[in-house]
Amino acid sequence: MDPKSYERYSRQILFGEIGEAGQQRLLDSSVVIVGCGALGTALANLLVRAGVGKLRIVDRDFVEPSNLQRQTLFEESDAQEALPKAVAAERRLRAINSGVSVEGIVADVSSKNAEELLRGFPLILDGTDNFETRFLLNDVAIHLNVPWIYAAVVASYGVTMTVRPGVTACLACALESSGAPEGENGVSSAAPPGAEDTCDTVGVLGAAAGVISSIQAAAAIKLLVGKAESAGGRLISFDVWSGRFQSVRVAKNPDCRACVRHEFRYLEGDAQPHLTMCGRDSVQIHERGRQLDLAALGRRIAPTVAEVRENGFLLRFRVPPYEMTVFADGRAIIKGTRDTSVARSLYARYIGT
Ligand SMILES: [Zn+2]
Repeated sequence: MDPKSYERYSRQILFGEIGEAGQQRLLDSSVVIVGCGALGTALANLLVRAGVGKLRIVDRDFVEPSNLQRQTLFEESDAQEALPKAVAAERRLRAINSGVSVEGIVADVSSKNAEELLRGFPLILDGTDNFETRFLLNDVAIHLNVPWIYAAVVASYGVTMTVRPGVTACLACALESSGAPEGENGVSSAAPPGAEDTCDTVGVLGAAAGVISSIQAAAAIKLLVGKAESAGGRLISFDVWSGRFQSVRVAKNPDCRACVRHEFRYLEGDAQPHLTMCGRDSVQIHERGRQLDLAALGRRIAPTVAEVRENGFLLRFRVPPYEMTVFADGRAIIKGTRDTSVARSLYARYIGT
């Protein structure tokens, strides 16, 4: 290792479980983070500072003022410019550590593109906010035979679990075998999806995301430096308000749909992702494979809509009481409704079919 790297990572190298050999493994490693919210930003910050060689971060959303309380890579100017989170995060992470190859991708991870976006990385990290995507990550990780680390946080509470295909229980072992569907934020397991507490109904503390993302980052580093033997298979939960901590071993389900029977329901697209986003009053429309000229579209619709803004990554405008945000790949987020038919009709009217 060159002297500059040695100096930079010296306090981590001094930690006996990592050492110089472990640090070199980190520098040679790569990770992909799906979702760039409270967990994803904190996780990316820790791993880029720790010196992972390459980090890809994928997110479908843009920065809003209500993100700033907990999403630690973003600044007020990012929200003012409505920058895509993946773009804002990439800029910030490159400034934090120019020695790490950072790649931000503005995309919605779905059954159609998941393998393409996640393949080639030895570790997949969950920074998402919904259980549909988490089960998709679980399917992809088992299919590609790479570990992934689940995490979720809501209010003052969060959970995380490292899944190593073929070694530990998977997310489906933990959540499907009991027959208990998981909540929209993937935290609770008692109520049906949609009837759940989410960040948008009961809030979320930055401190809770900080704790869970730190546990997740430590688990990631453990795997990347080759100390996997002690990792995984435990559902760890922490509540920063009550101070309650739990670490429960999750048994493998001998008849698991995902890790035993290899029925990749989410990857095969049998379970279509919801169009409605995490607890927000928003619907996302997927229109893959079409490239939009956002500037031209903005000029075309300007006479009929309000507050048209375009920043090179997305086009946003208002059709009161709705707000539409359109990405260059044809994807759109319609705020102000949870009704997919309303969203589809707005999309057809302003973007086209
Ligand atoms: Zn399983």
